[in-house]
Amino acid sequence: MNTRLSPHFTLAEMIKTSTGLPNNPGAQQIAELGRLATTLLEPVRALLGVRMHVNSGYRSPAVNDAVQGSRTSQHMAGQACDFVPVGMSVMGAFERLVANHHRLPFRQLIVYPDRGFIHISIARNAADEKHEALVNIGGNYQPYPLPDAPPPPAAQAKSSGSAWWKWGLGIAGAFGLGALIWRAAR
Ligand SMILES: [Zn+2]
Repeated sequence: MNTRLSPHFTLAEMIKTSTGLPNNPGAQQIAELGRLATTLLEPVRALLGVRMHVNSGYRSPAVNDAVQGSRTSQHMAGQACDFVPVGMSVMGAFERLVANHHRLPFRQLIVYPDRGFIHISIARNAADEKHEALVNIGGNYQPYPLPDAPPPPAAQAKSSGSAWWKWGLGIAGAFGLGALIWRAAR
Protein backbone atom coordinates (compact mmCIF):
# COMPACT_ATOMS: atom_id res chain seq x y z
CA MET A 1 0.00 0.00 0.00
CA ASN A 2 2.95 2.31 -0.55
CA THR A 3 1.83 3.15 -4.06
CA ARG A 4 2.90 6.63 -5.08
CA LEU A 5 0.28 8.69 -6.94
CA SER A 6 2.71 11.54 -7.66
CA PRO A 7 6.13 12.64 -6.29
CA HIS A 8 4.70 13.87 -2.96
CA PHE A 9 1.42 11.96 -2.50
CA THR A 10 0.81 8.27 -1.75
CA LEU A 11 -2.32 6.18 -2.19
CA ALA A 12 -2.14 5.21 1.51
CA GLU A 13 -2.48 8.79 2.78
CA MET A 14 -5.34 9.46 0.35
CA ILE A 15 -7.50 6.55 1.59
CA LYS A 16 -6.93 6.61 5.34
CA THR A 17 -9.94 7.17 7.58
CA SER A 18 -10.44 7.60 11.31
CA THR A 19 -13.95 6.09 11.13
CA GLY A 20 -12.74 2.49 11.45
CA LEU A 21 -14.80 1.59 8.36
CA PRO A 22 -13.30 -0.12 5.31
CA ASN A 23 -12.32 2.49 2.71
CA ASN A 24 -11.14 0.77 -0.46
CA PRO A 25 -11.34 2.65 -3.77
CA GLY A 26 -11.89 0.82 -7.07
CA ALA A 27 -9.69 1.18 -10.15
CA GLN A 28 -11.67 4.21 -11.36
CA GLN A 29 -11.35 6.07 -8.04
CA ILE A 30 -7.62 5.25 -7.84
CA ALA A 31 -7.15 6.70 -11.34
CA GLU A 32 -9.00 9.84 -10.25
CA LEU A 33 -6.83 10.14 -7.11
CA GLY A 34 -3.82 10.01 -9.44
CA ARG A 35 -5.27 12.79 -11.60
CA LEU A 36 -6.04 14.84 -8.45
CA ALA A 37 -2.48 14.42 -7.09
CA THR A 38 -0.71 15.05 -10.40
CA THR A 39 -2.71 17.90 -11.90
CA LEU A 40 -3.74 19.77 -8.74
CA LEU A 41 -2.10 18.76 -5.44
CA GLU A 42 1.47 18.93 -6.79
CA PRO A 43 1.02 22.48 -8.24
CA VAL A 44 -0.71 23.55 -4.97
CA ARG A 45 2.22 22.20 -2.92
CA ALA A 46 4.77 23.93 -5.17
CA LEU A 47 2.88 27.22 -4.88
CA LEU A 48 2.54 27.05 -1.09
CA GLY A 49 6.10 25.82 -0.59
CA VAL A 50 5.08 23.69 2.41
CA ARG A 51 4.08 20.09 3.11
CA MET A 52 0.39 19.25 3.00
CA HIS A 53 -1.09 16.98 5.67
CA VAL A 54 -4.00 15.09 4.08
CA ASN A 55 -7.04 14.82 6.39
CA SER A 56 -9.28 13.11 3.86
CA GLY A 57 -9.01 12.04 0.21
CA TYR A 58 -11.13 9.13 -1.08
CA ARG A 59 -14.24 8.26 0.96
CA SER A 60 -16.43 5.21 0.43
CA PRO A 61 -20.15 6.07 0.62
CA ALA A 62 -20.24 4.60 4.19
CA VAL A 63 -17.25 6.70 5.29
CA ASN A 64 -18.77 9.78 3.67
CA ASP A 65 -22.02 9.19 5.60
CA ALA A 66 -20.10 8.67 8.83
CA VAL A 67 -18.32 12.03 8.50
CA GLN A 68 -21.54 13.74 7.33
CA GLY A 69 -20.14 14.56 3.92
CA SER A 70 -22.32 16.06 1.21
CA ARG A 71 -24.46 13.54 -0.70
CA THR A 72 -22.72 14.54 -3.92
CA SER A 73 -19.25 14.79 -2.36
CA GLN A 74 -16.42 14.53 -4.86
CA HIS A 75 -14.47 12.65 -2.16
CA MET A 76 -16.48 9.54 -3.13
CA ALA A 77 -15.12 9.78 -6.69
CA GLY A 78 -11.50 10.30 -5.57
CA GLN A 79 -11.65 13.88 -6.91
CA ALA A 80 -11.28 15.91 -3.69
CA CYS A 81 -8.81 16.35 -0.87
CA ASP A 82 -9.03 18.04 2.55
CA PHE A 83 -5.59 19.15 3.74
CA VAL A 84 -3.76 21.24 6.32
CA PRO A 85 -0.79 23.30 5.07
CA VAL A 86 2.01 22.41 7.53
CA GLY A 87 3.51 25.52 9.16
CA MET A 88 1.25 27.99 7.36
CA SER A 89 -2.11 29.50 8.34
CA VAL A 90 -5.10 28.11 6.42
CA MET A 91 -6.27 31.63 5.47
CA GLY A 92 -2.75 32.53 4.29
CA ALA A 93 -2.63 29.39 2.14
CA PHE A 94 -6.18 29.94 0.83
CA GLU A 95 -5.41 33.54 -0.18
CA ARG A 96 -2.26 32.49 -2.01
CA LEU A 97 -4.24 29.86 -3.95
CA VAL A 98 -6.97 32.40 -4.75
CA ALA A 99 -4.39 34.94 -6.01
CA ASN A 100 -2.93 32.26 -8.33
CA HIS A 101 -6.22 30.55 -9.21
CA HIS A 102 -5.73 30.99 -12.96
CA ARG A 103 -2.75 28.58 -12.74
CA LEU A 104 -4.64 25.90 -10.77
CA PRO A 105 -7.18 23.57 -12.43
CA PHE A 106 -9.52 23.30 -9.43
CA ARG A 107 -13.29 23.01 -9.53
CA GLN A 108 -13.91 24.06 -5.93
CA LEU A 109 -11.60 25.59 -3.37
CA ILE A 110 -13.15 25.85 0.10
CA VAL A 111 -11.52 27.09 3.30
CA TYR A 112 -12.85 26.13 6.75
CA PRO A 113 -11.08 28.69 9.00
CA ASP A 114 -12.73 27.50 12.22
CA ARG A 115 -12.01 23.83 11.45
CA GLY A 116 -8.49 24.55 10.15
CA PHE A 117 -8.38 22.89 6.74
CA ILE A 118 -8.81 23.48 2.99
CA HIS A 119 -10.93 21.38 0.61
CA ILE A 120 -9.89 21.32 -3.04
CA SER A 121 -11.28 19.32 -5.97
CA ILE A 122 -10.68 18.70 -9.68
CA ALA A 123 -13.35 18.98 -12.39
CA ARG A 124 -15.51 15.85 -12.80
CA ASN A 125 -14.96 15.95 -16.58
CA ALA A 126 -14.21 18.37 -19.42
CA ALA A 127 -17.77 19.79 -19.33
CA ASP A 128 -17.48 20.53 -15.60
CA GLU A 129 -15.61 23.82 -15.91
CA LYS A 130 -16.94 25.49 -12.75
CA HIS A 131 -14.15 27.32 -10.94
CA GLU A 132 -15.15 28.69 -7.55
CA ALA A 133 -13.78 29.66 -4.16
CA LEU A 134 -15.86 29.57 -0.95
CA VAL A 135 -15.33 30.32 2.73
CA ASN A 136 -17.21 28.13 5.20
CA ILE A 137 -17.81 29.75 8.58
CA GLY A 138 -20.07 28.02 11.08
CA GLY A 139 -21.38 25.71 8.34
CA ASN A 140 -22.37 28.55 5.98
CA TYR A 141 -20.78 28.89 2.56
CA GLN A 142 -19.87 32.40 1.34
CA PRO A 143 -18.54 32.95 -2.19
CA TYR A 144 -15.03 34.42 -2.22
CA PRO A 145 -14.18 36.62 -5.24
CA LEU A 146 -11.50 35.36 -7.60
CA PRO A 147 -9.27 38.08 -9.15
CA ASP A 148 -9.10 38.43 -12.95
CA ALA A 149 -6.15 36.71 -14.60
CA PRO A 150 -3.22 39.05 -15.31
CA PRO A 151 -2.77 39.99 -19.00
CA PRO A 152 -0.52 37.60 -20.98
CA PRO A 153 3.19 38.66 -21.23
CA ALA A 154 2.79 39.60 -24.94
CA ALA A 155 0.08 42.17 -24.10
CA GLN A 156 2.19 43.64 -21.30
CA ALA A 157 5.25 43.99 -23.59
CA LYS A 158 3.10 45.67 -26.26
CA SER A 159 1.54 48.20 -23.88
CA SER A 160 4.88 49.10 -22.26
CA GLY A 161 6.35 49.44 -25.76
CA SER A 162 3.62 51.87 -26.74
CA ALA A 163 4.15 53.82 -23.49
CA TRP A 164 7.83 54.26 -24.40
CA TRP A 165 6.87 55.35 -27.88
CA LYS A 166 4.53 58.03 -26.46
CA TRP A 167 7.18 59.16 -24.00
CA GLY A 168 9.72 59.48 -26.86
CA LEU A 169 7.23 61.46 -28.93
CA GLY A 170 6.61 63.76 -25.96
CA ILE A 171 10.36 64.44 -25.56
CA ALA A 172 10.75 65.06 -29.31
CA GLY A 173 7.74 67.41 -29.22
CA ALA A 174 9.19 69.36 -26.27
CA PHE A 175 12.52 69.74 -28.10
CA GLY A 176 10.72 70.87 -31.26
CA LEU A 177 8.70 73.46 -29.32
CA GLY A 178 11.87 74.55 -27.48
CA ALA A 179 13.65 75.04 -30.81
CA LEU A 180 10.74 77.12 -32.19
CA ILE A 181 10.67 79.36 -29.08
CA TRP A 182 14.47 79.73 -29.25
CA ARG A 183 14.26 80.78 -32.93
CA ALA A 184 11.34 83.16 -32.28
CA ALA A 185 13.26 84.76 -29.43
CA ARG A 186 16.26 85.50 -31.65
ZN1 LIG B 1 -13.63 17.94 1.50
